Amino acid sequence: MRGFRPFWLEQALASEKAAPAPPLAGPVRADVCIVGGGYTGLWTALQIKRQAPAKEVVLLESDICGAGASGRNGGCVLSWATKFKTLCRLFGLDEAARLVRASEQAIDEIGAFVREHRIDCDFRHEGVLYTAIANAHVGSTDAVIADLAAHGLNSYMTLPVDEARRRSGTVRTLAGVYSSRGATVQPARLVRGLRRVAMEMGVRIYENSPVVAIEAGVKPRVRVARGAVETDKLVLAVNAWMPELFKEFERTIVVVSSDMVVTEPRPELLAQTGLAAGLAVLDSRTFVYYYHSTEDGRIMLGKGGNTFAYRARMLPVFDQPSPYRDSLAQALGEFFPPYAAVPVVASWNGPSDRSTSGLPFFGRLRGHHSIFYGLGYSGNGVGPSYMGGQILSSLALGQDNAWTMSGIVRGSRGHFPPEPFRYAGSLLVRGAIRRKEQAEDAGRVPARLDRALARLADAAGKADHD
Ligand SMILES: Cc1cc2nc3c(=O)[nH]c(=O)nc-3n(C[C@H](O)[C@H](O)[C@H](O)COP(=O)(O)OP(=O)(O)OC[C@H]3O[C@@H](n4cnc5c(N)ncnc54)[C@H](O)[C@@H]3O)c2cc1C
Repeated sequence: MRGFRPFWLEQALASEKAAPAPPLAGPVRADVCIVGGGYTGLWTALQIKRQAPAKEVVLLESDICGAGASGRNGGCVLSWATKFKTLCRLFGLDEAARLVRASEQAIDEIGAFVREHRIDCDFRHEGVLYTAIANAHVGSTDAVIADLAAHGLNSYMTLPVDEARRRSGTVRTLAGVYSSRGATVQPARLVRGLRRVAMEMGVRIYENSPVVAIEAGVKPRVRVARGAVETDKLVLAVNAWMPELFKEFERTIVVVSSDMVVTEPRPELLAQTGLAAGLAVLDSRTFVYYYHSTEDGRIMLGKGGNTFAYRARMLPVFDQPSPYRDSLAQALGEFFPPYAAVPVVASWNGPSDRSTSGLPFFGRLRGHHSIFYGLGYSGNGVGPSYMGGQILSSLALGQDNAWTMSGIVRGSRGHFPPEPFRYAGSLLVRGAIRRKEQAEDAGRVPARLDRALARLADAAGKADHD
């Protein structure tokens, strides 16, 4: 990815003094080699160095760290509490409860890490508000909240409607449930901060070093154009790019865009909306709207489920301004009338890796004992990638712990249909969801066929941002 830089990354790079890390040239040796310089790769590197400072850790990134999803996401830092039902179904009650708690703790630990290392990334631990903006969605979180409560895990409270409207900053809100277990962040400053700390801790980072081949074996060899790493352990943290490296992952994820716009800074108008500072707000649709304000008084609004990639391959559009800019700008004006005339200064989008369960999966590559991977965050990766780091560092260090024994390290939990059926099916379901949401917004009952098709997406585990 070069040329175009999404707003967050451009902003982060403008305030940074760090020079790009050099590309890898020649042979090097490593105890652990990590491919991918997003949150997953960097948290893995940091957690290895924290536990085993003497390990030689090499990280290869095809562009610059943060060029992928980590430098361009919505910056909503969420737990897995809303996934409790799916977690129970996949891993059983005890492990589901452990994962929900760990996902909440991850948010605390990210906060502690950015404070300890003075990462200036607008991390605000002000909670998350799930809203309903159509009558059809009022009460849609009741069942999962009841389940969480039954197991002593509930952190949500239903707000009075006026309060939900006030905090969400919009009269479109019809209901809202709030949890303090959520945060917002300037995502690119976070990932660039992790990169800085990783380098300070001795991780050797090579940027502009796309991996072109991996020779599996007892000691895997990872090749880039003009060099190679021979390593004891290899961690693949390439997220939506995994099908490009290994065809066997093609049916484990759907690669789909989430699209975003951000306004000029207008702090005086922010106060008029009432939108609570640092609060992550998400509505309850399948293709969710998500938004938050920034420290300098902008509003960022995103929406998932737009551009689908055939065969889960990268599309140029994922690294361009959003084709949905105008509809997002219009939606932003409808959510926040005081901002209706405020210019949108940037739009962008990016590839999200949607798994069949709506949860990431981790594992060992095709039985290779020393090659590990993790992907499939399904639009909720900012917080959970910290757990990705705990899982992958535990695997790379050969530890026997709750992470390496978890069902979440046993690979993909399902496969999407082969092409062309998956692509055709994605477009069919996308169309049905869009029509259903339009009908619900207008207070009409959606067509029965549209409801049935839309349920296919929900049945596979609702994602957070796609
Ligand atoms: C537009 C968008 C909005 C989102 N909004 C939110 C949100 O608000 N909240 C939330 O929790 N989650 C959100 N997500 C999801 C979240 O951003 C991701 O789950 C998370 O960033 C994944 O981190 P990662 O390190 O696994 O992947 P990435 O950050 O994508 O990192 C993978 C890296 O691998 C590199 N790479 C790929 N191929 C190679 C190769 N061959 N050699 C070397 N390097 C390679 C890439 O350049 C990239 O830097 C969003 C995602 C997108 C795309």
